[in-house]
Amino acid sequence: MPKPALLKCVLCGKDFLPDNAPYTCDVCGLDGTLDVLYDYPSIKESLSSSSLKKNQDMSLWRYQSILPVEKPTSIPSLQVGWTPLYSVKPLAEKLGIKELFIKDDGRNPTGSLKDRASAVGTAKALDFGQAVIACASTGNAASSLSGFAAVSGLKSYIFVPETAPAAKVTQLLIYGATVVLVEGDYADAFNLATAAIDEFGWYNRNCAINPYLVEGKKTCAMEIAEQLSWNIPDSVFIAVGDGCCIGGLYKGFYDFKELGLIDRLPRIVGVQAEGSRPIYDAFKNKSSRVTFSKANTLADSISVGSPRNWAKALRAVRKTDGDMLTVKDEEILAAMPSLARASGVFGEPAGATAFAGLMKAAEKGLLDRDERVAVVVTGNGLKDIANAQKAVGKGLTVPPDILELERALQL
Ligand SMILES: *Cc1c(COP(=O)(O)O)cnc(C)c1O
Repeated sequence: MPKPALLKCVLCGKDFLPDNAPYTCDVCGLDGTLDVLYDYPSIKESLSSSSLKKNQDMSLWRYQSILPVEKPTSIPSLQVGWTPLYSVKPLAEKLGIKELFIKDDGRNPTGSLKDRASAVGTAKALDFGQAVIACASTGNAASSLSGFAAVSGLKSYIFVPETAPAAKVTQLLIYGATVVLVEGDYADAFNLATAAIDEFGWYNRNCAINPYLVEGKKTCAMEIAEQLSWNIPDSVFIAVGDGCCIGGLYKGFYDFKELGLIDRLPRIVGVQAEGSRPIYDAFKNKSSRVTFSKANTLADSISVGSPRNWAKALRAVRKTDGDMLTVKDEEILAAMPSLARASGVFGEPAGATAFAGLMKAAEKGLLDRDERVAVVVTGNGLKDIANAQKAVGKGLTVPPDILELERALQL
C-alpha cells in the first residue's frame, strides 16, 4: 500500500512530508487545506485499466494502491463504495441531452457518500495508532463515523447541531458514539469540536481539516470513470456544503488523469441551496476567497455558512471550466419525487440537490444536445423523512370498504 509522497497546501503550495504534516497548512491556517499527492509514475506500474478489470474487490478498496492507508489491518470490514451508476434514458431524452447517469451513493453502509471518507479516516486513525476519533457534522459525517468507529474498535465523539434530523442522531447513538448536540448551528458545532480535539488530543475526522478524508471521497469519481469504461461524462453535478465532496470528485479525476487512465477532466458543476451559497457567491464574483455568512436551508447536509474546504471546491469548478448553480428549497423538495420517479433513487434533500441543479441547468438552456451528464446522489432519502413528507404530503386514508375506496380513488 502506498505511502503518500507529499502533502501540498492548496493555497500557497507549501509541501509537507507525510510523517510530520500538520492537518492544515501552518502558513495559511484552516483555509490552507492539503492535497495528498503520490508517486504517480510508480503507482502507474501496478494500477491500470487491465489490473482493475481483474480486480475482484467490489468496494472502494479496489483503488487501495492510490489511497493513503498504509497497513492492510487498518481497513474496516464494512462494505463501502462501488455504488450503482444508473443510465436514465427517458429523462435524458426529455431533457434533450445524450445520456444521464445517476450515481446512488445513498447505497453506502450508513446511507451517504460520507462513508467513503469515514472508511479512510478510521483506517488512518488505526495507521497512526489512535484510539479515539472525533468530528463535527451536519449529520451524515457523524452517523457515518460512528458506524465505522464501531467496526474499527475506535471510541468516537461526535458534535452535531442540535437541529440535526432525528434519523441521523438516532443512527449515531445506535452505533455507540458519544453524541454532543451543540446549541447552535454547524459552525458552532465545528468550533466546539475543533477546541475539544485540540484539548484532548483525539484524531480529527473533520473532512475539511484532515487531508486524508477527501482521498476517500475521491473514489466516487474513480468509480464513475471506471463504470463508464473510461469514457468519462462531459459534466458531473454534485451538491456543495463544506466543499469536500466536490473537492474529492476533482481529486479522483485528477489522480486518474495523472495515472493516464483518462485524458481529460469532466466539467464539475457545484449546486448550493439558495439560503447557503457562500461558495457560489465567491465563484460568481470571481473572488479568491469565500465570505462566511449564516446558512438557512432545509437541506441540512449542505446548510453550511462557513464552508471549510472552499479552496478545494473553487478549484474543482475553476480548473474544470465548470459552473456553480443555486436552487431554492422548493426546487429541492420538487426534485426529490422527480428523481425517485425517474430513476428509482430516493435521495435526502441534499442528496437530490444536484438533481435539482440539473433541472435548473436544463431550464436555463445550459445543457448541450450531445452532453453526457452524471449526477451524484449523496445521501439516502430515509435519512430525513420530515422533509420528504413536505414534498409529497400524506397518503389516502380510507375505511376498509370497497365502495369507499372507489370514491376515494375517484374511479
Ligand atoms: C455532506 C453532504 C453533502 C455536501 O458535502 P460537502 O463535502 O460538505 O460539500 C451533500 N449531500 C449530503 C447528503 C451530505 O451528507
